[in-house]
Amino acid sequence: MLSDSQNHTKIIFVTGGVISSLGKGIVAASIGALLETRGLSVVISKADPYLNVDPGTMNPLQHGEVFVTDDGAETDLDLGHYERFISRRLQKKNAFTTGQVYDTVLSRERQGGYLGGTVQVVPHITDQIKSNICYASQGADIAIVEIGGTVGDIESLPFLEAIRQLRWERGSERVAFCHVTLVPYVQVAMELKTKPTQHSVRDLRQLGIQPDLLICRSDRALSDALKAKIALFCNVDIKHVFESLDTDSIYRVPLAFHEQQLDHTLIKHFNIWAKQPDLSRWRKIENSLNNPKGKLIIGIIGKYTDLVDSYKSIIESLVHAGIAHLQGIHTECIDAESVNAANYEKILSKYHAIVVPGGFGDRGMEGKMLALTYQRENKRPLLAICLGMQLAVIEIARHLIGITQATSQEFDPSTQEPVVCLMDEQRKVVPKGGTMRLGAYPCVLKENSLICRIYGEQNISERHRHRYEFNSAYKQRFEEHNVIFSGLSPSGKLVEAMELSDHPFYLGCQFHPELKSRPTEPHPIFCSFIQAAMDQRDGLST
Ligand code: GLN
Repeated sequence: MLSDSQNHTKIIFVTGGVISSLGKGIVAASIGALLETRGLSVVISKADPYLNVDPGTMNPLQHGEVFVTDDGAETDLDLGHYERFISRRLQKKNAFTTGQVYDTVLSRERQGGYLGGTVQVVPHITDQIKSNICYASQGADIAIVEIGGTVGDIESLPFLEAIRQLRWERGSERVAFCHVTLVPYVQVAMELKTKPTQHSVRDLRQLGIQPDLLICRSDRALSDALKAKIALFCNVDIKHVFESLDTDSIYRVPLAFHEQQLDHTLIKHFNIWAKQPDLSRWRKIENSLNNPKGKLIIGIIGKYTDLVDSYKSIIESLVHAGIAHLQGIHTECIDAESVNAANYEKILSKYHAIVVPGGFGDRGMEGKMLALTYQRENKRPLLAICLGMQLAVIEIARHLIGITQATSQEFDPSTQEPVVCLMDEQRKVVPKGGTMRLGAYPCVLKENSLICRIYGEQNISERHRHRYEFNSAYKQRFEEHNVIFSGLSPSGKLVEAMELSDHPFYLGCQFHPELKSRPTEPHPIFCSFIQAAMDQRDGLST
């Protein structure tokens, strides 16, 4: 932990009350984006109160997608929001859980680190939380820390106690509390109700935390009288009561906050100097959202379709590319298990392009294979990511090359035709958490290939999360059938990208390009993919 005098960083804690899913992550990210427009350096971190060491082993249907950082951390999807809104690339240290905190404290206890002492939640767990927060916040002008969960939950208590202590130690000019709550509209009374907000602030104050700012989520504007009521009962300055209205795009939130002077309020609270905001990039995004020149419908065929958050980064990357091309993007998750030989044409023909995303296991494989065949044979745009690329390899092996038994060792470990196989380094791995090939790895692109033209350079770096890979023993047979292995690891051993020479846009990648796209800097693969979808829609594809 940095000593107090070294650390000039101002910390904003974002807590949530009343209900979960209030969009605290978007609030934290939008505040970060706004403060960056004023020339301040920003880092955002997430402290999650659950006991898993990280979300890597959790089902996406429960927790949404797992976001991966450059340094290979498997994190909560909120880190994806943060990275999309601010310019900094985040690291392992920017996400931690109760599980990790206990893991650290208990290992220290076993090594004799507390010899003679009784190890307790306060101060040992809370000290470790404070230490993690300070480590995650180092080096930035502003550190925003989102506390997962909802105030009132038993499990978030040690986090709230830790941030109370930090405020007490550092003072209000260095630590601010921002609480996100719900102000629901009750139809029968035809009124917005402030009581849930009052109660959740009361819960916080009982724990010694007086919020400095309230962000009220609501489906309609709050009147001045209502804000005054909230201010009075919650002990907050009326100028510090902000509204966050439901919106059709999360990328409108930074400007909506700016219009209410949220950035100005924080700068005044911390008593710091910052330049006037340069909002041009966010205004450009808003302009594009307001004036789409056309609409595209993109299908994502997968097995985690009940929860849209499972494919969050892919959906956002498509939206970013749409913003760049002035296109409204409508994404639809297609349940792979509902697609079969009798209905696939009817289902798939309405999409201008299809994404086959990453995943685990062979559930829904038949539907995905049909989609891959359909896009390949009809020369319609296809982007196949990670498991998607592995399935593309199997589809080509079976239907184009004639290796009818081709499959992945993930689905059949003893298969005779493992066109996708376990990576060498994975053979000895037993524990499940954090043991895949994770994080950023370099990749070399083949000159003049589609993907090389897309990036405009040969040496790239992208993030990974997988155990299996294309089996290079089959390389030649694929190459004889118009397959180009257009991205390889620098050693030439691992296939990172593949495409078809006789197709306008058929691209498979073992890495996850969706993890690095931003509305302000859309990812080149998604930009080209959306261009291909536009060509498909407009009848221009060749
Ligand atoms: N299940 C595949 C593997 O482990 C793909 C993983 C993914 O799509 N992220 O290699």
